[in-house]
Amino acid sequence: MYAIYRAEGIEVAIPFECRMCGKCCEKLSQCVYDPLSGKIIAETEFGLFDYIELSVDAKSPVLIKPCPFLKDGKCEIHEIRPKSCRDFPLTERGDCGVGCEGYREIKERVKKIESAVGKLEFIGVEHDSD
Ligand code: SF4
Ligand code: SF4
Repeated sequence: MYAIYRAEGIEVAIPFECRMCGKCCEKLSQCVYDPLSGKIIAETEFGLFDYIELSVDAKSPVLIKPCPFLKDGKCEIHEIRPKSCRDFPLTERGDCGVGCEGYREIKERVKKIESAVGKLEFIGVEHDSD
């Protein structure tokens, strides 16, 4: 996928390289426990999914960390993972302090480009199949 930035008159697509380290799924997770249904819910491109039942002591929706779908360092629902997982860390909030190596590289490249063309504005994310 690509992080899309814009400076005066130009648009820059910087490729993002995921190291498959699993840090984001361990430290952050994108899956929410819904106390009303007693299930994990997540928004995917196919709509709102309730995936599995889980016993959690919570009265209001809460993020589950590490993500319950992370098994042996791999996402069990990779094909239908939530949009927020799909786009991570190329959002306005960046890597949320997770320490994503791919994101660190993107920020370095942005700095270099900015020294040549001036401030870049983050526009969004583009996936290979977009
Ligand atoms: S922290 Fe970054 S590099 Fe590691 S799995 Fe998540 S997105 Fe990929
Ligand atoms: S759904 Fe998959 S990609 Fe998303 S946080 Fe869980 S394990 Fe990671």
